[in-house]
Amino acid sequence: MQTYCTVCERSGVKFAPLPDFYRHTAMRHGFRHFGRAETIALDSYSCSSCGASDRERLYAWWLNDQIKTGRLRKGQRVLHFAPEGPLSKKIRRLGMFDYKTADFMMPGVDFNIDIMDIPFEDESFEFFICSHVLEHVVDDNLAVSELARITHRNGCGILMAPICLDISETFEDSSATSESERWRLFGQNDHVRLYSHQGYVNTLECNGFSVQQLGVDIIGRELFVQLGLSQTSILYIVTKTPPLNNTWNPASRHT
Ligand SMILES: [Zn+2]
Repeated sequence: MQTYCTVCERSGVKFAPLPDFYRHTAMRHGFRHFGRAETIALDSYSCSSCGASDRERLYAWWLNDQIKTGRLRKGQRVLHFAPEGPLSKKIRRLGMFDYKTADFMMPGVDFNIDIMDIPFEDESFEFFICSHVLEHVVDDNLAVSELARITHRNGCGILMAPICLDISETFEDSSATSESERWRLFGQNDHVRLYSHQGYVNTLECNGFSVQQLGVDIIGRELFVQLGLSQTSILYIVTKTPPLNNTWNPASRHT
């Protein structure tokens, strides 16, 4: 089957493996779970044409699909945290959204902001992408509730973090402050926790989101192979959970 990159939209592309640096550094620091992440294709990590990672190709597939079905529409306000270069370029190329980028530190984004204290009004965005940010954030509950707050009641988001397949509960240790301790416990020098699958879902659900999980059973084995995804990959799509004292108009919720 021919490979396909949904980010640069080229067929027959080659996917390069994750650079050895990560494996070597993880091993050197004694991280026990290298290669046991839910969504990472070690052998087919980056598109050699545009550089997009496996997860970016998954997000781009979903974006294409949502645009086709009309769920994502022209003129919608979109906020992209810690924007991945190839994916961000693709979204700009589409030219259909009111698209803004944000990050705590990264230069060149539209807004340098703290995700635990987002300086936007409630329901400011119809769609957001926030991938591989929460594992760096001290208070992820606060960050997720902020994301839910700025999401429009009919809006949605791609909300992803690295998830470890080996553990059943999310693991945190605030005493691990050195880079080598963080490598050893969490698998990267600047991560502050290691999510379990259920622990991650709970964090999203407890802070204002309903979670849709799209894995190989829904997306299909063939497409997974074509995009170079690992079979355990799961795309998390979040929508805002209606408040208990629901005053929203149900008729408009899915428009
Ligand atoms: Zn590509």
